[in-house]
Amino acid sequence: MYTVAQLIGGVWGAGGEGGELVVHDPADGSPVSSVPVATADEVGKAVEAARGVVAEWAATAPAERAAALHRAADAVAAVADELARSTTAEMGKPLDDARGGVEAGIGTLRQYAELAPVRGGRTLLGGADAIDFMTPQPRGVVAAITPWNDPVAVSCGLLGAALVTGNVVLYKPSERTPATGWLLARALDSALPPGVLSLLTGGPEVGAALSAQEVDVVAHVGSTATGRAIAAAAARTGAKVLLENGGSDPLIVDADVDPVWAAGQAAIGAFANAGQICVAVERIYVHRDVAEDFVEALAERAAALRTGPGTDPGTELGPLVDRRHRDHVHGQVVAAVAQGARIRVGGTVPDGPGAFYPATVVTDCRHDMPLIREETFGPVAPVVVVDSFSEALRCAADSPYGLAATVLTGSMSHAQRAWRELPVGTVKVNAVFGGAPGGAAHPRRGSGQGFGYGPELLDEFTATKAVHIEAPGGGHW
Ligand code: NAD
Repeated sequence: MYTVAQLIGGVWGAGGEGGELVVHDPADGSPVSSVPVATADEVGKAVEAARGVVAEWAATAPAERAAALHRAADAVAAVADELARSTTAEMGKPLDDARGGVEAGIGTLRQYAELAPVRGGRTLLGGADAIDFMTPQPRGVVAAITPWNDPVAVSCGLLGAALVTGNVVLYKPSERTPATGWLLARALDSALPPGVLSLLTGGPEVGAALSAQEVDVVAHVGSTATGRAIAAAAARTGAKVLLENGGSDPLIVDADVDPVWAAGQAAIGAFANAGQICVAVERIYVHRDVAEDFVEALAERAAALRTGPGTDPGTELGPLVDRRHRDHVHGQVVAAVAQGARIRVGGTVPDGPGAFYPATVVTDCRHDMPLIREETFGPVAPVVVVDSFSEALRCAADSPYGLAATVLTGSMSHAQRAWRELPVGTVKVNAVFGGAPGGAAHPRRGSGQGFGYGPELLDEFTATKAVHIEAPGGGHW
């Protein structure tokens, strides 16, 4: 059992007067982590303490901060296996996937350590006796509030980019993966001056208390509803808000592709991490010409997935994060069936311990069903049959979200139409996952605002200052 401690003002074990929270393993319900809950007062004190070290950290040379981040990446690498194990114990994903998330996080830290010191500003062309330039500066105090579904990779992105650009960070990991957040914070803190990173733990109320504080940036990765609550709170304090939120990503299967290959892509997109990925395939628009073969192959793949605890070697489908979330996923499936959809495979809550839910394929879906329009965040592949690529594009674009979309097509002109016309931050053609390193995400609509990930995230944590210098007395230099 992990015993989590907070880090406030450079002191481990500070605070926690708000009580104790216990995290249970979603594979068997056994207790995994004991976690202190921060009070609103402790959150205020942590922000005050963070403010106290802002100037010193901001004045550190960029190369020195980059070296610290490289050391931090080494420290994370040294506990990579422990981080992967705590991820699996707290949120259930297969251990190999958890390892992949940790490796991705380490890669991101190193990428930011390399990129940050080579950034600069523009030189401006002013009068002959003036000097004009623009220079990036840290924003100050950053609150980073993160989710549970890929806890290390997501946190490393926000924390790495904010720290290396000279900001002081208050980190509030998800209440479902607090031990993972704690292990990560311990590793990062070991490479940083005291007080530059703080760790606050607890539930939504701790996140809410933090986003009500006078910080300079609130960076949130999580659900759309939470993102909107944070934006409302920040509107009162004037903090900049960075939101990477939910999605309902479409997959379009064109008439000219091999339906068996397309089903393989759909299965990866819908069932990896039990569908608990922000850019998971949440709805499928398949052309009528290939629909039957596609659904058959997809159902076969779903039925063949090896389900079990994430710690079992060979497990492809672990449990959902908890039973409350399983109720949400199953509720959407049941509602779709009541509206005329049919379950081809899965769709029943299994007996036994944990929060397992089978890979589920739902056919006869309509574009207006909540299963299609809302985020499910579970291993569910709902299929809508369409009669043309234009119809598929129209449906895919008609969403309250705008995170990402995938198109499977052999037609270059369809691929071109897709990336031009879809109102989302990321378009993928002929592969559901696997973009190049450094790819940014720029979500639209209910999926958020601002850049998450990529070199552009460094800009988000930076304020640019324009400088104009003249010789005194209006003379010459
Ligand atoms: P969540 O928003 O419920 O929780 C995320 C964090 O916000 C947690 O630390 C939580 O304690 C905190 N929080 C909750 N209520 C708050 C409030 N009122 N004020 C301030 N903080 C609050 O999200 P989740 O359930 O942990 O994660 C799943 C969601 O995250 C899904 O919607 C998924 O799509 C999204 N997500 C998005 C991305 C992306 O890059 N766009 C990446 C991963 C996950």
